[in-house]
Amino acid sequence: MSPKRKARAGKAKSKRKHYRRIATEEAFSIPEQMDAQRELVARTQEYDPDLFLWKVQTDPSGPVHNKLIDLYDMRLRTMDEYDVDMHLLALTSTGVQMMDPDRAVAVAEIGNDRLHEAIQRYPDRFSGLATIAVQDPPRAVKEIDRAITKLKLNGIMINSHTNGEYLSERKYWPILEAIEGLNVPLYIHPRAPIPLMAKAYRTDHLEHAIWGYQAETGLHGLRLITGGVFDQFPKLQVVLGHMGEGIPYWLYRLDFMHGRVRIGFDRPKLKLTPSEYFKRNFYVTTSGMNWEPTLKFCIEVLGADRIMWAVDYPYQDHPDAVEFMDAARISEKDKQKIYHENAERVFKIKKKK
Ligand code: MN
Repeated sequence: MSPKRKARAGKAKSKRKHYRRIATEEAFSIPEQMDAQRELVARTQEYDPDLFLWKVQTDPSGPVHNKLIDLYDMRLRTMDEYDVDMHLLALTSTGVQMMDPDRAVAVAEIGNDRLHEAIQRYPDRFSGLATIAVQDPPRAVKEIDRAITKLKLNGIMINSHTNGEYLSERKYWPILEAIEGLNVPLYIHPRAPIPLMAKAYRTDHLEHAIWGYQAETGLHGLRLITGGVFDQFPKLQVVLGHMGEGIPYWLYRLDFMHGRVRIGFDRPKLKLTPSEYFKRNFYVTTSGMNWEPTLKFCIEVLGADRIMWAVDYPYQDHPDAVEFMDAARISEKDKQKIYHENAERVFKIKKKK
C-alpha cells in the first residue's frame, strides 16, 4: 500500500464509528474446488455461463483467485483496514453443484472441514455456511447433519439451481426437512441462470451478475413459495443476498396475481399469500447493493429485523459496503440490527461481551 493510501486508510479508520460489523456473504475457495472446476472448464466445449467465469477464477494470475484461496493474510488485513469484525464464509459459487456427485460430496466435506479449522483458529473473525452436494440428496442430508452438529457451522449455503433443478422439487425436500429440523438458515446464493434461461440473456452478457443472477435466484426463492415449501416446512428460514434478489419490489404484484383465479392454472393452493411467506420465512442481505433507497424500502416492507449486512468479498470490496452502511440515514437501532444483531441471532454467532 502506498504511504498516501495508508495515511488515508488510517485517517478514515480513526474517524469511523464503532460497530460490530459482520459481513454475511463472503466467498472463499480451496485448491480442491479450484482443481475440480479447472477440469470442468477444460473438458466443456460449449458455452456455459458459470464456467466462463470459472475460467477467470481458477487462473492463479487472475484478479480473484488469490483473494479466494487466502484466508489468513490479505483477507484479515483488508477486514482490519475497514473495521470489519467478521466474515461469514462460504465456498464460492457454484460450490460443488457442477461436479459429478462423488466428487461433489468429497469436495464439500473437505471444504466444510477447512471452514471449521478457520473458525477454530479465528473464532472472532470467521463463521461459516456449509456446502452440500445438492445433486445427491441422501448424502447431502448426512453432510448437513455433520456440518451443523459436529462442525458447528452456522447454516447451509447453496448456489441456486443444480443441473437445472430447484429445491422446490420434491426429491430435494429431505434437504429442506433436515435444514429446518436443525433450526439453521439456508442461504441461496446466485449463479448464472439455467441454460434454457441463460440463452435469452446472452446478448451483452446479461446472464451474469448485472441481471441474470438476480433473475435466476429470485426465481428460485419464488418457486419455494409458490411450490408450497413453507406450508410443509413452516419454520424454514431462507436468506437471499442483493436485497432479496428483486422479490421485495414485486411483492404487491405477486400477491395480486397469485390470488387471482384463472381457468387452466394448477398452482398448489397455499395457506398464506406470497408476501406473507416472504416476510415470515426470508431474510435479505445487502450484498453488492450499497444503495440507500433499496435499504429504506426493505426496512419499510420487511422490517429491519429481516435485513443483514454483507460485502460479497472478493467480488465487491469493503470500503463501498462499510461507507454505505455507516452513512445510511436510518435509525441507530436499525443499523445495529443490520450490522450485527440479526446475524448473531439468525446464524447463532456468539455475541461480543
Ligand atoms: Mn456473492
